[in-house]
Amino acid sequence: MSVSIGVVGCAGRMGRMVIQEVLATDGCSLAGGTEAPGGPIGKDLGTLVGAESLGMAIGDDPAALFASAEAVIDFTIPAATCSHARAAQDSGTAYVVGTTGLSDDDQAAVTAASQSAPIVQAPNFSVGVNLLFALTKRVAATLGPDYDIEILEMHHRAKIDAPSGTALGLGEAAAAGRNVPLGSVARYAREGQIGARPPGEIGFATLRGGGVIGDHTALFANEVERLELTHKAGSRGIFAGGAVRAALWLQGKPAGLYGMADVLGLD
Ligand code: NAD
Repeated sequence: MSVSIGVVGCAGRMGRMVIQEVLATDGCSLAGGTEAPGGPIGKDLGTLVGAESLGMAIGDDPAALFASAEAVIDFTIPAATCSHARAAQDSGTAYVVGTTGLSDDDQAAVTAASQSAPIVQAPNFSVGVNLLFALTKRVAATLGPDYDIEILEMHHRAKIDAPSGTALGLGEAAAAGRNVPLGSVARYAREGQIGARPPGEIGFATLRGGGVIGDHTALFANEVERLELTHKAGSRGIFAGGAVRAALWLQGKPAGLYGMADVLGLD
């Protein structure tokens, strides 16, 4: 039996990758795709990704897609994800959220939807990065407060949010390892006469340039040694593969908000 998967934001960098992954994965089929008003509505979903025509056109009605699909995958923009979350809430359809940079209100819409729909939300869908989250938490707990923690990330020049959702996830993992809320210790940027680094701070450094898909490092430093845990993404396929895996995993799950650690059986 095949699980039909819809892709909102299907013409984006990730959306196109997800369509390719759905078409290449046993046990699933493409339910359809939507784009923003003014986008390539009506274009064939197969030719969109350089494949043969599928006889399916890009739509602009997410509610209809949520009603007809068994799972919907979303890598779009926060405002769109907020309204897609309401469609998931109304339909109860399994929903996979990859969009990053959500405001508190956007996140509240996703959390509210998880009362009626099973949802996997992750700042990063790669298996390697989810292992990196688990390792970062463990290393932070083991090394203790004498080690300074810095999170470094680099992404392509078109990325619109900073620090990346993955960098924030690494900060959350490190803070969890120390049993503190990230918000109480995070330093998201530094400039000017800011004084010495306070103990316990978790710092972030953001680089942007070229076509870098996503590099992340969690760095631990004391006076005499440095430990660096690094992941470098070589293809968006790793995120698309994880998102499709999450969509399949959600089938038959009760409503709730899940993470990739649940999908992968980590923790
Ligand atoms: P992109 O700009 O290439 O694609 C976004 C797409 O969403 C565009 O095609 C845009 O037209 C579409 N869109 C905007 N509003 C829409 C609407 N109302 N309805 C339907 N479609 C709409 O961006 P991208 O590089 O594909 O990244 C998208 C998001 O995914 C970003 O937030 C990025 O940070 C995140 N991302 C997450 C992961 C992860 O593993 N969680 C990995 C890569 C990217």
